Amino acid sequence: MVAEYVTSIKAAWDLAKAIKTSADAIDDAQIKLQIAELISALADAKIEAAENAERISELERLLKNKSEMLFEGRLYYRILDGGNKDGPFCPTCFDKDDKGIRLQPNSEDRSYDDWRCHACGTYYDSST
Ligand SMILES: [Zn+2]
Repeated sequence: MVAEYVTSIKAAWDLAKAIKTSADAIDDAQIKLQIAELISALADAKIEAAENAERISELERLLKNKSEMLFEGRLYYRILDGGNKDGPFCPTCFDKDDKGIRLQPNSEDRSYDDWRCHACGTYYDSST
């Protein structure tokens, strides 16, 4: 999809340059106006392409984040290069907001819960 944008913008730009060359030769006001409109449309297309590229980059980051996460028991773990696990991470925050919030050992007097998310406040018992 990104490549189609780039190809289309390049084709339009090449066309604009060809039209400009013709306009310079015949000095036609109508053609010059059309060139101005074409260049304006190309500027819009370039902005849209840049915005889309940024959005695609963000989606790729989210997809990579998702693909690295393993749901095991009731918790998420990030699979590192080499297969080691990092974590655990809060399943509530990850499923709701795509945020990898590291769980903290629960130091409160609740021996049945091992972990607590300091972002959403949820307690987790990793033994179930
Ligand atoms: Zn959380």
